[in-house]
Amino acid sequence: MIHAAENEPNRRLRHAVLSQDGEAAPELGLGEPVLGRRVSVLLPYPFPRPFDYHVPATLELGQGDIVLVPLGQRQVTGVVWDTPPDSGVPGSKLKPVTARLDVPAMTPPLRKFIDWLAAYTLSSPGEVLAMALRVNALVPVAPAMGWRAGPPAGGARLTGAREHVLMVLGGSVMTASELARAADVSASVVRGMVKAGLLVASPLPVRAPFSWPDPAHAGPALSEAQRNAAASLSLAVQERRFSVTLLDGVTGSGKTEVYLEAVAASLRAGRQALILLPEIALSAQFLARFARRFGAEPAVWHSDLPSRIRRLTWRAVAEGAAPVVVGARSALFLPFSDLGVVVVDEEHETAFKQEDGVVYHARDMAVVRARFAEAPAILVSATPSLETLANVQAGRYGHLKLEQRHGGASMPEVAAIDLRAAPPERGRFLSPVLIEAIRATLAKSEQAMLFLNRRGYAPLTLCRACGHRLACPNCTAWLVEHRARRELACHHCGHVEPVPRDCPVCKAEEMLAPIGPGVERITEEAASLFPSARTLVMASDTLPGPASAAEAARAIEAREVDLIIGTQIVAKGWHFPHLTLVGVVDADLGLGGGDLRAAERTVQLLHQVAGRAGRAESPGRVLLQSYSPEHPVMQALVQGQLDDFYAREAELRAPGHWPPFGRLAALIVSADDSQAADLTARDLGRAAPEGEGITVLGPAPAPLAILRGRHRRRLLLKTRRDVAVQPLLRDWLARVPARRGVRVDVDVDPISFL
Ligand code: ADP
Ligand code: ZN
Repeated sequence: MIHAAENEPNRRLRHAVLSQDGEAAPELGLGEPVLGRRVSVLLPYPFPRPFDYHVPATLELGQGDIVLVPLGQRQVTGVVWDTPPDSGVPGSKLKPVTARLDVPAMTPPLRKFIDWLAAYTLSSPGEVLAMALRVNALVPVAPAMGWRAGPPAGGARLTGAREHVLMVLGGSVMTASELARAADVSASVVRGMVKAGLLVASPLPVRAPFSWPDPAHAGPALSEAQRNAAASLSLAVQERRFSVTLLDGVTGSGKTEVYLEAVAASLRAGRQALILLPEIALSAQFLARFARRFGAEPAVWHSDLPSRIRRLTWRAVAEGAAPVVVGARSALFLPFSDLGVVVVDEEHETAFKQEDGVVYHARDMAVVRARFAEAPAILVSATPSLETLANVQAGRYGHLKLEQRHGGASMPEVAAIDLRAAPPERGRFLSPVLIEAIRATLAKSEQAMLFLNRRGYAPLTLCRACGHRLACPNCTAWLVEHRARRELACHHCGHVEPVPRDCPVCKAEEMLAPIGPGVERITEEAASLFPSARTLVMASDTLPGPASAAEAARAIEAREVDLIIGTQIVAKGWHFPHLTLVGVVDADLGLGGGDLRAAERTVQLLHQVAGRAGRAESPGRVLLQSYSPEHPVMQALVQGQLDDFYAREAELRAPGHWPPFGRLAALIVSADDSQAADLTARDLGRAAPEGEGITVLGPAPAPLAILRGRHRRRLLLKTRRDVAVQPLLRDWLARVPARRGVRVDVDVDPISFL
């Protein structure tokens, strides 16, 4: 039976086109049946190409259908792909497709995006597909029981934690583990609440509980500049064409309000919207704001979602039942049924670069995703990347600018403190000038913030007797002391060990000394200087999850905190209306090292941090502690003249064809054995591509020469902008034999050079 069906032509579709030209896959619409009884199925594994399967007569398959197929002894999910089947394999050898899964087919825009991203990053399409199928969405969500808030129980004690759980739960139904996680409490708190009758069993929803955000719910009264920008973006959404616009405006100018109007336009057109944020865990303020604007929360997407919620969300996105998704970079791979706009907020953020597995830049890929969806992309930043500015200058991207802070709030006044002239006391890190400014701020009952982009107590521990420095056993890196946890930690591989009392080398007793500050050490110093100030530390290890970040934001807004001490997470788009002073403990910190973008990134980070100050009526002040206040970066920040800084950066990069005026791709060779790494690096060096506009730097040991015990070497390919690096890289890698235990990772458009 199956054999008879095998050669039966499918008459419903451009048969002639395909059989004449098996090469170019014609564009097949969603759900259009595939030809013949042979299909090409892409599997979510790093195989070089899709596999062919036989379609049993009982199945009607379309391009993009998600199917179950045999692979070896297993059944795996895959997607019917656009690649023409390979007629070289005899039909009798093919295994049959087991079943078509009951989920919406993957749309052509997402399939094209996957192929494109794979080709651009030199990954296999299957590895990229894996990011789109990682949800396990294909398992139907079975009805199950969860917990909802019970009727007010007379006798039950309502502790702070219990109250918090009830607040997080609201009117929804969650499993015990989801609830414990969302509220940042232990499972026993939830169990106790069940016992006390505060929580009662209730069926969990089998459909995602997304309500349709209402574009007319509470539109703000926009200023004229905001209105013009919003109108221009809304028009782009209505045109249903691909375009890219940079929405650029000082911190607090209302960029978020403006791009939410583009989201509203997409909702009005009945289409979906995707908003990418660099740090979704810190998005509580954003979600609350979205809810105020639209009367409903958006769907949220990131890698830490409980799996049931992931499955519900994935399906809702595919079925068009989740109209707006706010997500981390992985949200690019969601199966939107009809995507109307893509927004990338804080587009300059390096957190958009994925460094593991398939290495890609989510900002750039968001533009590609929008292109295939025929929808506009909006890139948002107060400190755009040079890449985006170059695209604006070349006329590829539109540019909307908001010059003023909303509601008459002024930009903070920025000044540098010359640490050579006003040094801190010995063994301390805050200059008397900064200390005095904090004192004055606290005396006025306003909030102050100290920023230092370093977690822990001290970045280095040194033996004062023999000079030994405590280093990671697995990496070329110093161990960072975390005094509160009494640990030394490697920030690269996660290795931890107790802080020794004596030097492990010379055995000198109690001679180990912390060198330099981290936020913990600044907190200690602040506690002795401002003993009555209520202090809150904001770092990724003190605010590990969305709930703790939300709680921190709430406490700050409610003025339960006087002094905030934080790492780079405080730079991310927070709106703290009572914060009027920001002190940057070490403004020079990011300028060391040979990174191409060191100056650009320092300006971006410090400008964002500075932008937290004075966002309401009281004007803000920013003090930068620096040993080189004359440095162009400090001058740009003090004068608030970012345009001049950008122009100067561009002048420095253009002649050497450094990005964005040229292209870069890095090869990272790594092996357990240093000689093997050297040999492959040497082979790559000898086989390096040559030609007009092509330069190869290296091989050289990576700055992180050993990472997690693997020896690393780097090569960097630099080309003119008009040279496509992918074919060069493919040929190059093909010329070098693989060596056992040696990996070569490709990083196109590298951001990190470690
Ligand atoms: P940005 O994203 O540019 O930093 P925001 O959109 O966060 O700026 O705006 C800063 C603050 O001003 C927010 O609290 C926002 O709600 C408020 N805001 C901005 N524009 C308006 C407006 N037209 N009406 C009311 N509030 C506004
Ligand atoms: Zn390490």
